[in-house]
Amino acid sequence: MATVLVVDDHAPNRELIATLLRYAGHDPIEAADGEEALASVRAHRPGLVICDVLMPTMDGYEFVRRLRAEPEIAATEVIFYTATFYEHEARGLANACGVSRVLTKPCEPQEILRAVEQVLAQPSAVEPPTEAVVDFDREHLRLLTDKLLAKVNELETANQRLAGLVESAMDAIIAVDQQLRIVLFNPAAEQMFGYRAAEVEGQPLDLLLPQRFRATHGAQVRSFGATNVTRRIMGDLRSVKGLRKNGEEFPLEVSISQSASQGLRYTAILRDISARQQAERRIERLHRVATVLSDVNSLIVRVRERDELFREACRIAVQVGGFSRAWIGLIDRSALQLCLVASAGAPQDGYFEALEALLAQRSAAVVARFDTALALPQPVIVQDRAQTPGLGPITSTAETGAQVWLPLVVAGQTLGVLALHADRVDFFDDDEMKLLKELAGDMSFALAHIAQEERLNYLAYYDSLTGLANGTLFNERLGQLINAAGSHKLALALIDLVRFKTINDTLGRHAGDVLLKRVAERLERCVGHRAHLARIGADHFAVVFPEIRTENELARMFAAQYQHCFGVPLQIDGEELRVSAKVGIALYPNDGSNVETLYRNAEAAVKKAKASSETVLFYNPKMTELVAERLALENQLRRAMERGELVLHYQPKVDVNTRRIEGVEALVRWSRPEAGLVYPGKFIPLMEETGLILALGDWALHRAALDHQCWRQQGLLAPRIAVNVSAAQLHKHDFVAMVSQALKVNGFSHGVDIEITESLIMENVEDSVEKLQALRAMGVNLSIDDFGTGYSSLAYLSRLPAQILKIDRAFIMTMLTDPDNMTLVSTMISLAHSLRMKVVAEGVETEEEANMLRRLHCDQMQGYLISQAVSSEALAMLLPQGVARH
Ligand code: C2E
Ligand code: CA
Ligand code: CA
Repeated sequence: MATVLVVDDHAPNRELIATLLRYAGHDPIEAADGEEALASVRAHRPGLVICDVLMPTMDGYEFVRRLRAEPEIAATEVIFYTATFYEHEARGLANACGVSRVLTKPCEPQEILRAVEQVLAQPSAVEPPTEAVVDFDREHLRLLTDKLLAKVNELETANQRLAGLVESAMDAIIAVDQQLRIVLFNPAAEQMFGYRAAEVEGQPLDLLLPQRFRATHGAQVRSFGATNVTRRIMGDLRSVKGLRKNGEEFPLEVSISQSASQGLRYTAILRDISARQQAERRIERLHRVATVLSDVNSLIVRVRERDELFREACRIAVQVGGFSRAWIGLIDRSALQLCLVASAGAPQDGYFEALEALLAQRSAAVVARFDTALALPQPVIVQDRAQTPGLGPITSTAETGAQVWLPLVVAGQTLGVLALHADRVDFFDDDEMKLLKELAGDMSFALAHIAQEERLNYLAYYDSLTGLANGTLFNERLGQLINAAGSHKLALALIDLVRFKTINDTLGRHAGDVLLKRVAERLERCVGHRAHLARIGADHFAVVFPEIRTENELARMFAAQYQHCFGVPLQIDGEELRVSAKVGIALYPNDGSNVETLYRNAEAAVKKAKASSETVLFYNPKMTELVAERLALENQLRRAMERGELVLHYQPKVDVNTRRIEGVEALVRWSRPEAGLVYPGKFIPLMEETGLILALGDWALHRAALDHQCWRQQGLLAPRIAVNVSAAQLHKHDFVAMVSQALKVNGFSHGVDIEITESLIMENVEDSVEKLQALRAMGVNLSIDDFGTGYSSLAYLSRLPAQILKIDRAFIMTMLTDPDNMTLVSTMISLAHSLRMKVVAEGVETEEEANMLRRLHCDQMQGYLISQAVSSEALAMLLPQGVARH
């Protein structure tokens, strides 16, 4: 028996060890800190001191240092008893100050006693350590101790807080020990499982698991324990189930972690997800039914045929809606019988055969079965087929689950039922039924619609002779097109055949029919695919042209088409027949903004045409005039080209400083007999619309090359000629070849360049650049015309193979009065120079402008100040004699 001093600032700790020692037959005395302990050692001379390390006022080390410093008590044996997290440091330092053993808290009682016996039996010859070491240690230890004390406090509060959390947590928290026995069961767990904590503590975890999951869940927890992972969510959440005290199973979400605390092994946080799972399942199901609804709706829009509608609807219900079976029965009123017309789902099990046989029986039972659904008409829901007498299974195999019959009602009359089967009992809830009723409603609507459309399509929408739309359909379309027109114009043309009645009477009805068919065919070809053609009366046709861009375009188009259609005689029964027609045209919105007005006005125009010698009349006489003028002009222009009435005039471009001619621009004029010179503004736009511009462009290039050669042949210093090129030319794929061909005069010509407007090049930069580079390679220079009016980006400008930039006349005209434009001109000039291009100012009319341009370092100018465009002969007079140059 020995006196053992237990030093600890924590009374329960002291007591624990003291009790232990007493049991072992020793005589424990106690001290609460180092100071007290020293006094106690001096007074009682214990054989052993068991000392806590971390203590306020004087810690374990300071105590030992002082102990060793007092010779009378220096040899006292000391065992340190310290917290786990401090064990490492404690061992190292314990050696240094002569402490026999270090025990870590918490410690098994036997171990404590064993250590006590060992130390008492074999007292170590402890040498007091040197002052230096102790001093060093003390400094080190003071810091360490402060830190650790703070840590202990922190841990203690954390612990308390944690305990509070566990108590008040919304989630169930359950901890088990190594043997999977429940050691902690918080209030939320009590509520979830229905047990009181006291009932389950110490019980195996299995208590909380359904029988069939006990083995797997236990194994899962243990295998988790074998890993180094400290926390994880258990497996497939949906497969984790809990068992309540009342025997009810429920789905759980489990997060499990390995526990560091003594005595615990695993801690699990559990959440009851049955409500969530139910909600999820319901949403999923409703979503499926909603998808069926939307699929069936798009089906209704697409499908034109009853059988297809039924077949597809059943397929969608099964494939998309997840119903196990879907079928549609229609009532055959004559046989007073329900007939199965479409079905989908489980085709092999004989159900549908049985159903058909049943339906064919027409027995009272069968009638009763469908009576409610058909007569009320209300959906009939059977939530559990197995348990519903009369409406239950119809085959010998067990049919489980629920079913619903939805009546299909058209115009108050029940036509049939849509039946849906589900695998689960109680499948159809209110929300789902709402959607299903909507589905049946949509199907009914489709049925009505199909019936109506079938009738309309075949009886009333098409003309059986020509296959064209008839008046009814045409009117409807016209209305739709007007609605969709927006800001576009559209044209309604009514076409009446002339003297059709006479032809019909003389040649007979058959020939009349053939004639109408032929005319219809020709019209169809002429009006093109964008127009809508219809036969609206015996010898009346109508066309609507949507999206008319310009009235001119329409006028010309119509004139040309008229020629195509009625210009050539028709062959009928070996006879050649010349058919003509009167056409009246009304334009939307000018001549009417609705179907009726437009029609009325087009009719008025036809009437007028019939009464006159005109074949095509617009409702608006100005349009008719315009068309006539245009057509006349077009024909005249064609003729003018053939007769060589077009000429090129040349306008010099001169050096701004020397005013010497550096080049000329070719400008086309129409020398019209008796009318004099017509300027391009009057005819170029029309030529562009008609495509005549291509021929003109060809001609102009060739003419310029010829004139250039002519000047040279006269021994003149011929300037290069710039010819204007239009959009249609540039956009043609063989533009380069065309230019090269046109420029050839006796082999080759170098004297011709081209001018292209800035905006035109920019329309399709990639393509343009490629073509212009090819021309450049042929020695043809490029001027960018009307510069400043478009929106060129600098990046593109620098990529263009252009040598000359022509500043638009609009800027030159205003630069002296508008400082902004002056700045612009100046900028354009520097810009061009930085890209190594020459600058030509267009439309210079005054000396002031010329002076300014000189100051701005503009290279060349062109305009009335120097000369108007003059004939080739007149220009020749301005050219100096000299060696021919290219
Ligand atoms: P453009 O290429 O901008 O030609 C310059 C126009 O300005 C010419 O009008 C010319 O006579 C006029 N002009 C020149 N200097 C002055 C001036 O000091 N003051 C005024 N007020 N006007 C001046 P023009 O000849 O009537 O040609 C008009 C447009 O017709 C040309 O504009 C060009 O785009 C087009 N054009 C002319 N000839 C042809 C051709 O052969 N082919 C193509 N595709 N277009 C041509
Ligand atoms: Ca030009
Ligand atoms: Ca120009």
